[in-house]
Amino acid sequence: MSFATLGLSDVLVRAVAATGYTKPTPVQAQAIPAVLEGRDLMVAAQTGTGKTAGFALPIIEKLYPGGQADAAQRRAPKQVRVLVLTPTRELAAQVHESFRTYGGELPMKTACVFGGVGANPQMKAIAPGLDVLVACPGRLLDLVGQRAVDLSKVEILVLDEADRMLDMGFVHDVKKVIAKLPTQRQSLLFSATFSKDITDLANKLLNNPARIQV
Ligand code: AMP
Repeated sequence: MSFATLGLSDVLVRAVAATGYTKPTPVQAQAIPAVLEGRDLMVAAQTGTGKTAGFALPIIEKLYPGGQADAAQRRAPKQVRVLVLTPTRELAAQVHESFRTYGGELPMKTACVFGGVGANPQMKAIAPGLDVLVACPGRLLDLVGQRAVDLSKVEILVLDEADRMLDMGFVHDVKKVIAKLPTQRQSLLFSATFSKDITDLANKLLNNPARIQV
């Protein structure tokens, strides 16, 4: 199996090859086609399984179908097309870097926001509108409160490491963020473990999800 046979365009297949990956990991082999089909996903996968590329690659393909750069015209000021929530700033930065690496040949606009640093540069980065915003929930809600970001046109939501997000006490923040999103969207939930709390959240969030376990 190859990345090309999973339905990714040449531009992404080249980016993956440049990264040195020769074949998809099991989570990628299952997640990439399901995301491209538009399915919601519930994925049980640990860090180290290649889960980040498992969502980033098909999301970029959906943003830029066939690698068409003219899809960039679909952004409007302060609007976000894809929102990725992560529990920590380190993970946010890593996920953001992955989007930048895989989408390096495309005119993608991305930003990464988390607390503990000044909000002004983050507001400036969001102002023109974004393809992908990677965010920790607390800072994202601050920015929403200041009307620095508009989540009403989000097409795809990713909850990464959802179990850690709940362990760290972000459940209310996550629910507040979700309440700002359109109900018509694709949602992908990744978690290392599936406790009752995660399953409850998944049941509320996901619509007939494809279930993937690696
Ligand atoms: P993740 O589970 O997303 O944190 O990824 C774990 C590590 O696996 C990262 O360092 C990736 O660069 C690497 N990786 C992701 N996909 C592949 C692949 N298909 N082949 C080899 N390494 C990969």
